Amino acid sequence: MQRVAGTLRMRVVGSVGVGKQGFGRGKGRTPGSAVGAGRRAVVEHALNPIHRATTEEETAVAPRALIAGNWKMNLDRKTAEMLASALVDGARDAGVDLAVCPPSVYLAPVGAVLASSGIELGAQDCHTAQSGAHTGDVAPEMLADLGCRYVIVGHSERRADHGEDDATVRAKAQAARRAGLVPIVCVGETEAERDAGAAPDVVERQLRGSVPDGLDGGSLVIAYEPVWAIGTGRTPTADDVAAVHAHIRAVLSEITGDADSVRVLYGGSVKPGNAAELMAVENVNGALVGGASLKAEDFLGIARATP
Ligand code: PEP
Repeated sequence: MQRVAGTLRMRVVGSVGVGKQGFGRGKGRTPGSAVGAGRRAVVEHALNPIHRATTEEETAVAPRALIAGNWKMNLDRKTAEMLASALVDGARDAGVDLAVCPPSVYLAPVGAVLASSGIELGAQDCHTAQSGAHTGDVAPEMLADLGCRYVIVGHSERRADHGEDDATVRAKAQAARRAGLVPIVCVGETEAERDAGAAPDVVERQLRGSVPDGLDGGSLVIAYEPVWAIGTGRTPTADDVAAVHAHIRAVLSEITGDADSVRVLYGGSVKPGNAAELMAVENVNGALVGGASLKAEDFLGIARATP
């Protein structure tokens, strides 16, 4: 048994099944979260060298789910602090990892509210350079200095509004790693691309172009966000999400150090009412939440609905 970047890698023994490949909470938990009895039995088998000798198949238990809020260019200082405070009060029994990504000017006050709460701080973008003549930009080292753990890179709004291409996103992800941050790399197809049946190809191209080589679950998060689902109230079907996430996992296995340990979030109109279904999809390890992250009860409702 080997623990890699928060993920328990274990061997499946004999006829002990894992169902749905065991991804996600309730679909196989990491140590520290509540491992189900069946899962515990498998782990114990794996510790037994006799059983291990008969083991042929290896699988991985999914990383703990991450629910990350992207506050975009919303709120003011006071309401940002109030929202953070409400999350701190309500998050104690969330059972998943939580992060919020406020506007960069509110990172410091929100970070102060979140201090020691276990809710992580993230930024919405970063520059590639550590310092220099880049008016208006923010270096990843500055974000780390403020206590950020995550930074979103390649969100479709930045790809569209600022012309960011895959090479730029990749450079930002690399810069984030240089600063010790975990990049949340966003990919997703437009509606026209989906209608043309090109979603898997588009997502694969973005992954190969945007994700630096050799990262793993401790250094990378992916967010699959169909552009047409962002802020529209529309979502793909669970089957569609499953198909794209399976494809993402397969591509990651070629470009990351340990694809099974990488959290692959779904994003796009996630709400408390649809979270249970979307978060239960195989290979979905949490959500990147926009609009619903601006209300504590909705954001926490999504966290609680995550299986
Ligand atoms: C987003 O922009 O990352 C997002 C998921 O937005 P929403 O939840 O509002 O669709």
